[in-house]
Amino acid sequence: MVISSPSGGGKTVVRSGLLKQDKRFSFSITCTTRARRPGEVEGKDYYFVSADQFSRLRAGGKLLEWAKVHGNYYGTPVKSVVEVLEKGRIPLMTIDVKGARSVKRIFPETVTVFLLPPDLKTLVQRLRGRGEAPENVAVRLETARAELKVASGYDYLVINDKLPEAIREVAAIAELETRKTGRNLDKVTAFRKQLDRKI
Ligand code: 5GP
Repeated sequence: MVISSPSGGGKTVVRSGLLKQDKRFSFSITCTTRARRPGEVEGKDYYFVSADQFSRLRAGGKLLEWAKVHGNYYGTPVKSVVEVLEKGRIPLMTIDVKGARSVKRIFPETVTVFLLPPDLKTLVQRLRGRGEAPENVAVRLETARAELKVASGYDYLVINDKLPEAIREVAAIAELETRKTGRNLDKVTAFRKQLDRKI
């Protein structure tokens, strides 16, 4: 499952809440060239890498997707998604719109969710509240304009007004998606085999 939103839209808090209450998900840790923010933990929030290291990962085909966001590089290591899949869990990816498009192209069964704050005022408050400098707020709002243009290509839209509600809605989307017939054909086949043996 991929979640995208404009910066300040609440991806990280929705992700934390979801990971806490729904054990089917695991976060696929991504790497970035941006500086670590206070409180962020290496190998938990991101793998913090140099521009050189990032180039090597990219050139070596180690990234499932990558994008340049607000002047920094971000990318999803193939390994971090494979590790989650091997544990039988759903990889939860909170990545930008370009990355989301790449992942959907490679894995069409990916479920994409666009998270939107209830209004612009709330978005600006959230960005200022986390200490973004005014020039950074302006850059992020400009980026948001471009991100909104592609929101219609996402499978689902969730308004992140009340956090617990937004988390519940994303969990409900996952629940429904796991019920899709196409994702459960093995169960139909297994039942049919039992019938075949009986008759
Ligand atoms: P931040 O610097 O605020 O943590 O993230 C900036 C943007 O980069 C967010 O939209 C975030 O979702 C996105 N992002 C984080 N990791 C990745 C990644 O691995 N790939 C892509 N394409 N975007 C990412």
